[in-house]
Amino acid sequence: MAITLELDQLSHISELCTEEAEGAVRCLACAHRCLIRPGKRGICGVRYNEAGKLRVPWGYVAGVQVDPVEKKPFNHFLPGRQVLTFGMLGCNFHCSFCQNWKTSQALCDPAAARSIQQITKVDPEELVALAVKNGASALASSYNEPLISSEWAIDIFKEAKKFDLKTAFVSNGYATPEALHALSPWLDGYKIDLKSMQERRYREMGGNLNHVLDSIRLARELGLWVEVVTLVIPGFNDSIDELWDLSRFLVSVSADIPWHVTAYHPDYRMEDIPATPAAILQQAAEIGEEAGLQFVYAGNLPGKVGSLEDTLCPKCKHILIRRRGFWVLENHLTSAGNCPDCGQKIPGVWS
Ligand code: SF4
Repeated sequence: MAITLELDQLSHISELCTEEAEGAVRCLACAHRCLIRPGKRGICGVRYNEAGKLRVPWGYVAGVQVDPVEKKPFNHFLPGRQVLTFGMLGCNFHCSFCQNWKTSQALCDPAAARSIQQITKVDPEELVALAVKNGASALASSYNEPLISSEWAIDIFKEAKKFDLKTAFVSNGYATPEALHALSPWLDGYKIDLKSMQERRYREMGGNLNHVLDSIRLARELGLWVEVVTLVIPGFNDSIDELWDLSRFLVSVSADIPWHVTAYHPDYRMEDIPATPAAILQQAAEIGEEAGLQFVYAGNLPGKVGSLEDTLCPKCKHILIRRRGFWVLENHLTSAGNCPDCGQKIPGVWS
């Protein structure tokens, strides 16, 4: 495909792999762990073996924007601050409901191939300078799956650290322990999509549920700030049983993990599925709270989900942060992240 030839010009050799027999390499960036023979590509299509070396995307963005951190979404990570968000092309999943399919599926869906025209060559210093110039407090890798270009993100995040900026991933969580260990010294926030608790659903998307669950556990153990998002899709993952399974799993890792249940809008190959009604998000949030989660948020329906956009103190129920959509209307947290009324410490990255 012409698109891969063009992208291959923008690549670096990676060491996030093992060398195997007959010139093959095993890529360790995501849980597919592709064995890639010389001249071949991994499942994501953007990482390839050239003469026994793994080459990976480096030196371009297919999208870059400065916008509120709440859009990622993060609610306990620098609330109200601006984040420079960048993305590349390609993905290791092929979700029928992808809301970023024009970039994520650019290598495997001809309808998305025009995204190659959005590419801008850039280096980490230029991106970080752009973040500083725009007053951003953090940089985030998003829009397509950041794990498949972990090396590019690490180089940008290393540069960001020189300017005391925070860093974040907006990811499907289909990581390997090797990738998470490589990223964690440079990464602060990790937003993970937990799309379902059904193995068959993950197989339809091209993955395996347990690897995502393992990533959520390991990211917490490594000290990353983790928030989890479930796009609630009618008929796909909105049964009472599944919402309980999602909630119980998160509580088993930590009741402190913010869980965002967000509304689906018809998109890509699931345009026949109706948008998620507010009542389903409210039901999901009730289940999450009953299961023991301290912070459950409903997203994508601004103004229609009552106080489920706000952060409440889990001890005294004081409204700490009031939001509408991506906007912070009030923030009463102390600078150390405590409730001003009862002094309860609220988990998160606040400064
Ligand atoms: S990032 Fe994942 S899908 Fe891509 S080559 Fe590596 S293991 Fe395969």
